[in-house]
Amino acid sequence: MDYKKLGLRIGLEIHKQIESHKLFCSCPSELVEGEPDLEVKRKLRSVVSETGKKDEVAGFEMSKSKYGVYQFFKNSCCLVELDEEPCHEINKDALRVALTVSKMMNCEFVDELLIMRKQVLDFSNTSSFQRTGLIGFNGYLKTKNGKVKIETVCIEEDAARKVKDAKDYIVYRLDRLGIPLMEIVTAPDMNTPEQAKEVAGQIGMILKSTGRVKNGLGTIRQDVNVSIKGHPRVEIKGVQKLQDIPKLIENEVKRQIKNKNGKSEVRKVNSDLTTSYMRPMPGAARMYVETDVPNVRIKPLLKGLGKVELISDKTKKLEEKGISFELARELVKNGINIEDYNYKDLNFVARVLIEMPKEIEKRFELKSKLKETDFDEVLEKYFGNEISKEAVFEILVEKVKGNKVNYSKYQVVSGDDLEKEIKEIIKKHKDAPINALMGIVMGKYRGKVDGKKVMEILKKNV
Ligand SMILES: [Zn+2]
Repeated sequence: MDYKKLGLRIGLEIHKQIESHKLFCSCPSELVEGEPDLEVKRKLRSVVSETGKKDEVAGFEMSKSKYGVYQFFKNSCCLVELDEEPCHEINKDALRVALTVSKMMNCEFVDELLIMRKQVLDFSNTSSFQRTGLIGFNGYLKTKNGKVKIETVCIEEDAARKVKDAKDYIVYRLDRLGIPLMEIVTAPDMNTPEQAKEVAGQIGMILKSTGRVKNGLGTIRQDVNVSIKGHPRVEIKGVQKLQDIPKLIENEVKRQIKNKNGKSEVRKVNSDLTTSYMRPMPGAARMYVETDVPNVRIKPLLKGLGKVELISDKTKKLEEKGISFELARELVKNGINIEDYNYKDLNFVARVLIEMPKEIEKRFELKSKLKETDFDEVLEKYFGNEISKEAVFEILVEKVKGNKVNYSKYQVVSGDDLEKEIKEIIKKHKDAPINALMGIVMGKYRGKVDGKKVMEILKKNV
């Protein structure tokens, strides 16, 4: 498809949970299972707004005439989640994380954080509004295809978690309500599906680099705005996987080409990466000031922000030390500080730490319970020329199996001893080609000799 000719424009809206307690109370940000301690029922009542008009979205939700059921857990919720008590002071720790991210995205900052109430009518909040506050704006990211503008970075409270959608009612769990979220909105500056994926990936990488965001399914929600020339903007909600973004956009573009008179609407992702209608596009967000939360001066908070090294920069540094990209990425991901190992061949160290345990798990279907001391011991023997490269893996296997390792079994045969042994073998197998001799030696001293050295000696003596 000729996306340029189609006038494709893509914008992203990324929501990511911050690793901290809840935004407006001190409840833990943890999802819980099991039976709730309490269930509370709420109904939505429509009132004509101050403009005197009826709200289309409210009307749409109201037409379903449903009610909400909220599951309350006393260990992870309080009266704030139930909307029976005003918000407490905003969580400054979470706020600092969001400020750090804004800074990494080259944003300007607001002078004062003002918390607003944004209307939500799908029962996902007990108060029927979500609290949100703008902290950064006018930022940018550098990408392979030029700069992408970051329009806004907001701090928000996450919504309650939907657990059941019945005909007459919806059940929400209150554990997720109030978890601090960052909302990052880009300008519609992306013009190809691949570029959208790149930008989403870069934003995800920046977020992870802080070490202060939640990981795993459901901790990130990516909404994608898509429009082509002649078709109004469509918002696609809840894209979970980065790699799904290009296909999803491609399908949406195809759909928009077929439905040139389509409406601006919110759509949801289907499992085959097509989309289906969800609800009308909300008008300009109805925002009201949250009077229960005092404004926060931002400047004093900026001073205390630490410097964050990007995962991509950390990875690059490791590559410069001779470590492969894949291993470098794994080391950073697992927080392993390879520079603590004072050995020459750091790529081999990384293989021992990252690849070998995985291979053992896969090949022997054993759960690797290797400890740091196990790795230290094996690496010391290897770099001290006591055991061969091949033996390292075998020894780790023994350790995973829980066997005691007899190092003398793996003692490297080298130098004069090795040459003497090889000469004996050559004498015994006169006329054997060099590769056959190599096979014999390696078979006899498996795990105890260095193949390269054996070949050298053979060449010298045959
Ligand atoms: Zn609470």
